Amino acid sequence: MFGVLSESFKTAVNKLRFADDDKALKNALETLKKALLKADVHHKVTKELLQRVEAHTKQAGIGQEAFLNAIKHSLAEILTAPGNQGFVYTSKPPTVVLMSGLQGSGKTTTTVKLGTYLKLRKKKVLIAACDLQRLAAVEQLKQLCAQHELDLFYDESGSDPVDVAKKALEKAKSGLYDVLLVDTAGRLAIDEALMAQIKAVHKAIAPHEVFYVADALSGQDAVKTAASFHEALGITGVVLSKYDGDTKGGVALGIAHQVGVPLRFIGVGEKAADLEAFLPERIVGRIMGEGDLATLAEKTNAVIDEKKAKLMNKKIKKGEFNFNDFLDQMESMKKLGSMKSMLGMIPGLSGMADKLKDVDLENSVEMKRIKAMIGSMTLKEREAPALLNNSRKRRIATGAGLSQVEVNRFLKQFQNAAKMAKKFSGKKGMQDLQAMLG
Ligand code: GDP
Repeated sequence: MFGVLSESFKTAVNKLRFADDDKALKNALETLKKALLKADVHHKVTKELLQRVEAHTKQAGIGQEAFLNAIKHSLAEILTAPGNQGFVYTSKPPTVVLMSGLQGSGKTTTTVKLGTYLKLRKKKVLIAACDLQRLAAVEQLKQLCAQHELDLFYDESGSDPVDVAKKALEKAKSGLYDVLLVDTAGRLAIDEALMAQIKAVHKAIAPHEVFYVADALSGQDAVKTAASFHEALGITGVVLSKYDGDTKGGVALGIAHQVGVPLRFIGVGEKAADLEAFLPERIVGRIMGEGDLATLAEKTNAVIDEKKAKLMNKKIKKGEFNFNDFLDQMESMKKLGSMKSMLGMIPGLSGMADKLKDVDLENSVEMKRIKAMIGSMTLKEREAPALLNNSRKRRIATGAGLSQVEVNRFLKQFQNAAKMAKKFSGKKGMQDLQAMLG
């Protein structure tokens, strides 16, 4: 669903972790752009979204927090279309909902899902079987409605969907139903006969809502057909079915903006309960992996203040990362909880990652050795690892109660790690470093 998007947004946000200038923002926006296009978000929507994110970020002052908030804000703006977002019932029931869509889009299934959704909210729902085109459609509805204890109106002898729809509306009124859901015929593609028929049904029952069910797997075509239906019928909302199978997830982002009507529900499976209301704010939270990002920001903010993080980055870049910084980092990481993912990056501990499941880093032999070695260094040596010649190494080994081989091995690993860190301190590096911390 939002997996690809969520990950990319995080990567983009991380670009601003150690830098807060125009260049870093440009970089982050570029990452965002690539991710959005890859997730199948329409290029116009992408452009619009990026412009908004840039403007909001600059307004607040470039920084990670501002960028994150700008994305959330802009996403909510893009996802919010004119018109109501939730399901609004008429003051004079029944609320009539006309279901439209192409054949195979999931229209009939969605009708049942919506019926179930409303029934769960204590509404009395009647479904009208007005798809007289597809032979099995009425039968399918009969079975599904029986299975989910939903009332169904059908007319076995009827051949005119307008007539059936009118009768269903009468029944909904006399039966004091809260909602009438009218399933209509779909075709494989938009054609005039289909449009004329549904327009006639529309005219006969004057629906409060006209939902267009679009198959998420059809990508940008879902948006195009929704726009055609909107033009012909004046739809009030889109339901995106089969969203569970959509790994890109970007189509959902564009509908409100491109079609001008809100995306109201998403279908997330074949069962009757697999329908979710699409509410911009909630969705933004989900797309952004809010729990994760919020936790991440909390975690890292609590552990490393930004100034310190920037200083550390500078030192790494210049190759000035020393043993004190290293100890500092170890202290910070200790507070981050799970260590396993970080182990591979810590000199002297890289071999542990594969061996252990839950690492008690603080009490590990390796950590104790490292601390003993650094503890045996003079303050100057800790500041300037290059000072460590053979005689100093010997002294450190004695002080730490270790062999010189062990000291040499650790120093070598530390050197390599510092070199790697320097190499990684460019664009890609920050990403890796962030992944290590998160
Ligand atoms: P209609 O011709 O538009 O009425 O399409 P149907 O309602 O008969 O659905 C076509 C197929 O799509 C059926 O096999 C449904 O089970 C399936 N389907 C509908 N909605 C979803 C959904 O949200 N997720 C998944 N995985 N399958 C769906």
